[in-house]
Amino acid sequence: MRGGTEDRDIPALWTEVLATARRTASEGLVVGTSGNVSARLGDMILITPSGIPYHRLGPGDVTAVDLDGRQVLGSLTPTSELPLHLAVYRATDAAAVVHTHAVHATAVSTLVEEVPLVHYMAGALGGPVRVAPYALYGSEELAAGALRALDGRTGCLLANHGMLTYGAGLEQAYDRTAQLEWMCRVWLTAAAVPGRTPALLTPEQLAAATGKLRGYGQRG
Ligand code: 13P
Ligand code: ZN
Repeated sequence: MRGGTEDRDIPALWTEVLATARRTASEGLVVGTSGNVSARLGDMILITPSGIPYHRLGPGDVTAVDLDGRQVLGSLTPTSELPLHLAVYRATDAAAVVHTHAVHATAVSTLVEEVPLVHYMAGALGGPVRVAPYALYGSEELAAGALRALDGRTGCLLANHGMLTYGAGLEQAYDRTAQLEWMCRVWLTAAAVPGRTPALLTPEQLAAATGKLRGYGQRG
């Protein structure tokens, strides 16, 4: 698959996983060791280890599990959100998963059950983005709730916790995270204007934009 990860080897994909994880920190989508990133290579999932600042991780720290969660590479303990990542890989065609505690997404997750349709970029995530119910971090319950919220979507919020997106590669998964965080920020900004309520798109307007987004960008 072009733009996917199948054709990359382990060191190259690990480098990309670390670069993406570091980007979540440098672009302010997480603080400290919060969040986690993974990418699929065949039946193997390369995944960030638990509780280690991303800038301390290097080429020798490759950590990988199989689709049953058994560690197949490395000695560092994989992220505590392994059940969440595995659930997404088992149920979807995801090649990469990004989980962050981005400020605006997390704030919105405490206010609504679905991100209000303030912008057509919801179409890039498959439609109005749902909020998965709160559950303990790292739990199977959180993973199951996220999977339900992801039905027909490539991203969801996790109530009082953060958000998750997936894609055909790390770049797409990260871009969806950035777009979702931006959209949450737009809604919070508009909703904060005293005495005014943001206008929302209709399902028909979203459907038209979603269709057009399929042909967005350069031809071919
Ligand atoms: P890890 O450090 O185990 O990846 O956990 C961070 C996190 O965001 C848990 O939800
Ligand atoms: Zn988290």
